[in-house]
Amino acid sequence: MQGGQTHTGARLLAGILPVVPTPFGPPLTDQATRLVLLGSGELGREVAIEAMRLGCEVVAIDRYEGAPAMQIAHRSIVCSMSEASELRTVLTNERDRPCARMLVVPELEAIATPVLQELEADGLHVVPTALAARLSMDREGIRRLAAEELGLPTSPYRFCDSLEELEEAVASVGTPCVVKPVMSSSGKGQSVVRTPADAEASWQYAQEGGRVGLGRVIVEGFVEFDYEITLLTVRHAGGTVYCKPIGHVQEDGDYRESWQPHPMSEAALAESKRVAAAVTEALGGTGLFGVELFIRGDEVLFSEVSPRPHDTGMVTLATQRLSEFALHVRAILGLPIPSDEDGFVPQIAPGASAVLLATEVSSEPLVEGVAEAMAVDPTVDVRVFGKPDARPGRRMGVALATGTDADAARLVAREAASKLRVR
Ligand code: AMP
Repeated sequence: MQGGQTHTGARLLAGILPVVPTPFGPPLTDQATRLVLLGSGELGREVAIEAMRLGCEVVAIDRYEGAPAMQIAHRSIVCSMSEASELRTVLTNERDRPCARMLVVPELEAIATPVLQELEADGLHVVPTALAARLSMDREGIRRLAAEELGLPTSPYRFCDSLEELEEAVASVGTPCVVKPVMSSSGKGQSVVRTPADAEASWQYAQEGGRVGLGRVIVEGFVEFDYEITLLTVRHAGGTVYCKPIGHVQEDGDYRESWQPHPMSEAALAESKRVAAAVTEALGGTGLFGVELFIRGDEVLFSEVSPRPHDTGMVTLATQRLSEFALHVRAILGLPIPSDEDGFVPQIAPGASAVLLATEVSSEPLVEGVAEAMAVDPTVDVRVFGKPDARPGRRMGVALATGTDADAARLVAREAASKLRVR
């Protein structure tokens, strides 16, 4: 049946065998199913909750104490995951502790991925695959895979290691264009070059914003998209399925609001599914992926992919019976995922999310206004992430709402978020 169509329209995965469900033993015993989270932020916390609901043992790892998922995990470990020797020691210690099965679940990009590849070759289960973690660690791996190996449509791009190369690239890609450190996320070090004279300032800005200091940048043609979406794509034992498209607004390269479903033409939706299926199939394994796409008319340009739940997908906490976190956990454990005849995971209602950002540095920050936010509408829900420190721009919580359509839900979520503040 591999590569064929199921009666639900879901495509079966080449190379993925149906997983024989294993029983779930008690956590902290040698019969446990253990998830080791590499990264313990708000997304990891929701993954942890879903896994714990199935009786899994959760080990939360991050580089600082008190990270959101650590607060609820069975065990937590502070480790610099980008340091190969530290990561190897932690993962081999975990592997040596008795359990029935263990999965390593990355939640962020800054990980010493060669260690994951080395341990995967030794039999460790890395979600979705160590290759996916490696390729998505920097913008170059994913862009070359999508554009050059898979031939998927993207903006024109060049990679540069110096200001001189950047000036040449700006001339060849054309203005306006976007400059981003290859090792960065959430818009850090990212700027728009409007005229060739901006190249130097963009180069300097990128050098300050990259994850590992001085380094390589990608220059991308600026896409005048009509809108951008995240297409959450789930590869599971039964095939590939999708969540309804999620629209979002980004500011300073970071998400502020998201909503689901975003209306799309049939042609753009079909093309989005094609692009998402191609890139996630190349990354392999099972799990949920956040495929970021720019849409212009019926044209779809691939932008990025995260081989894990996506921040804009927090809206699914309100809109789906199985949120993106529940879907990720089901997919990686080989459990079934319901979908309709078009291959979409059912929604309960249209909905929206709006984030709460800190504006100041503070330790032991207080999130205020939760009651006022909830009083905006009976559909409002709030997640407070419980982060131990705040700094300007740090995401501290999110307001969620549903409505008769996504626009109505957006208004409610935005108003609810406006009642929240960090002190
Ligand atoms: P990224 O960190 O690459 O996901 O970029 C963050 C946001 O910046 C995207 O969600 C877009 O809103 C915007 N952006 C990034 N690249 C481009 C581009 N080539 N053209 C237009 N907007 C872009």
